[in-house]
Amino acid sequence: MSTSDLDKSIQYIKGVGPKRALSLGRLGIHTVKDLLYCFPRTYQDRSKVEKISNLTDGATAMVKGIVINIKSFRTRGWKSIFEASIGDGTSMLQVKWFNRPYQSEIFQVDDHVFLYGKVSLYKQSLQMVNPEYEIASEEDAPGKSVGILPIYSLTEEMRQVSFRKLVKMVVDEHYHKVEEIFTDDIISKHKFVPITSAIKNIHFPDSMDSLKDSKRRLKYEEFFLFETAMALRKRGIKEVSGYKFCIGKNVETHIYKLFPFVLTKSQQKVISEIHEDMCSERPMNRLLQGDVGSGKTAVAVYALLAAVANGFQTAFMAPTEILAEQHYRTLTLMLEKAEVKILLLTGGAKTKIKKENIERIKQGDIDLVIGTHALIDKGVEFKKLGLIVIDEQHKFGVMQRTRLRQKGHKQMPDVLVMTATPIPRSLSLTVFGDLDISTIDELPPGRTPVETYRVPVKKENDAYGFIRKEVEKGRQAFVVYPLVDESEKLELKSATVEAERLRDEVFSGLNVGLLHGQLKPELKELIMSDFVNHKYDILVSTIVIEVGIDVPNATVMAIEHAERFGLAQLHQLRGRIGRSSHQSYCLLFGIQKSAESRQRIKTMLETNDGFKIAEEDLKIRGPGEFFGTRQHGLPEFKIGDIINDFDIIKLARADAFDLVKEGHKSKDSKEQMLLKRIMESFKDKLDLINTG
Ligand code: ADP
Ligand code: MG
Repeated sequence: MSTSDLDKSIQYIKGVGPKRALSLGRLGIHTVKDLLYCFPRTYQDRSKVEKISNLTDGATAMVKGIVINIKSFRTRGWKSIFEASIGDGTSMLQVKWFNRPYQSEIFQVDDHVFLYGKVSLYKQSLQMVNPEYEIASEEDAPGKSVGILPIYSLTEEMRQVSFRKLVKMVVDEHYHKVEEIFTDDIISKHKFVPITSAIKNIHFPDSMDSLKDSKRRLKYEEFFLFETAMALRKRGIKEVSGYKFCIGKNVETHIYKLFPFVLTKSQQKVISEIHEDMCSERPMNRLLQGDVGSGKTAVAVYALLAAVANGFQTAFMAPTEILAEQHYRTLTLMLEKAEVKILLLTGGAKTKIKKENIERIKQGDIDLVIGTHALIDKGVEFKKLGLIVIDEQHKFGVMQRTRLRQKGHKQMPDVLVMTATPIPRSLSLTVFGDLDISTIDELPPGRTPVETYRVPVKKENDAYGFIRKEVEKGRQAFVVYPLVDESEKLELKSATVEAERLRDEVFSGLNVGLLHGQLKPELKELIMSDFVNHKYDILVSTIVIEVGIDVPNATVMAIEHAERFGLAQLHQLRGRIGRSSHQSYCLLFGIQKSAESRQRIKTMLETNDGFKIAEEDLKIRGPGEFFGTRQHGLPEFKIGDIINDFDIIKLARADAFDLVKEGHKSKDSKEQMLLKRIMESFKDKLDLINTG
């Protein structure tokens, strides 16, 4: 087999010089194989030649005709234009090319040509502007570009036609050398076409059906490789020895006594899954998902205290200072009578105290450290870190999680990551594919679903009146703004300015507090705890309260300029209320400008289900945005689409996990080759793909 042929540099292909090789390199194409695996972005079906008399404005079509006359000239702005009239016996079509000075005469009168492009109406007659074209050699010979043609994602300097020519040449010469990586079992089980035919047809399909078959096969292959990497990583983590905690009935009863409530069935189920992980000698690598307000903190407390009871140190990391402080307050209160040494470590704390604290952590003097990303600072070392809990994990990058895990010593600490942004199904099999997943799927008893309303400008005063009534009933409210300071450009109501207006005019007589990210940490903490203690009726705030904040007595979440927030943010903000048996209300102020913002608001009005919202959000924004740029671990698939190819992902995952299942010794040389190939292509990524 001539693998080496495929690994040959693209530069040695006929017609590719150093310069072209450079542009190809920019597309990630360095070898022959790279080019074979550079799949089209879309296709044009040119298998049908349309009569010119049948063309309509706006249609995209292929026509074949004779050049009747041509004209080449420049506009006053020195733009070059090449014009031609084409006739096919049914009618005439005007064709124009702008700015092709290097090719002023595209073709000659009497040439037979194929044209493919969009038809538009110009001065009462139909025309095509900058269509793709090809000169037919003889009148009746079908043009080479008839059929289903690939369109590639190219850089500006490249042209579809010449790139396609290059691909055609390379495919024709090399497609039969691509190695089959799958066993016959897999191929016959899924009725796959051979890889060689898939490669050929993905570029130059014989028919729509063979294109479909090729796509299915190549998507499967891509997901399969990725899922095998996931399975290997998962197995790898499981093979490392971790701590084996011992959690007896005594310890459990002790922990349960600390909760001021009875755990829900869902919480209990999740706790038993965590219990099993912790008691095994394999390190836990578990994702806990549960909608806002479902009671994830209690589950975290269980895991943390169980590890402390085993004589280990534990870390509890939250994405914001305000949330870390809240956890610190809640846990300190809960552990008042327990002998657990607990400490708060944030970036904002004073340096001298912080130094002392860091020293105490290092000495092993502290059992439970709660903090922000300050926990992963270089200087922070643990003596015996046994368990890590990361709250609102979607706010952290992959590297940050890995770094916290590395604070462990010889053995790997158990890791529990929590999220209120439920992971859409397709992502739980890909991006988060190496984690075990637990789900809390019920809310604590007695909750009534939050009611959500849109507040048009003319109803704003009514809405404020409604908030006042809630306050008079003894409840509290959040009013959230997108910005801190007045910005003339954006003309958004900003929190500082609005806080004054609300305090002095709208809510005069009520206690109105202001909280935003630019305040000093001590002040933030004070304002937040004052709100918790009901010293304020209304808290005007920015997005700093987005995640995690838990003030059960608050029943109103008013969001100003709701159109400025993303769907996930809106859902998180709404999750700050509806945390008690009192009916809660989410009020969305603002004008709906774009179609997208309208879609977001509509989704918010339609459902409270975080899962549906996450799926919708993923659809609106796509996976890259959904995770934000910080999630470098997000895999990029060439042909697979993690949103729409769920069924294929499922198949590929099942087969991949079967291949690397624990203790599986592969006898088949095909399988070994496959594993080798996966190791090669994911070597540098195995560490990165997802949480460590
Ligand atoms: P989240 O999952 O959003 O982090 P929290 O852990 O903050 O949710 O819990 C939300 C609220 O519900 C808190 O006030 C918490 O005390 C309360 N809570 C949690 N579990 C229960 C339960 N089993 N019964 C009653 N209230 C509960
Ligand atoms: Mg929480």
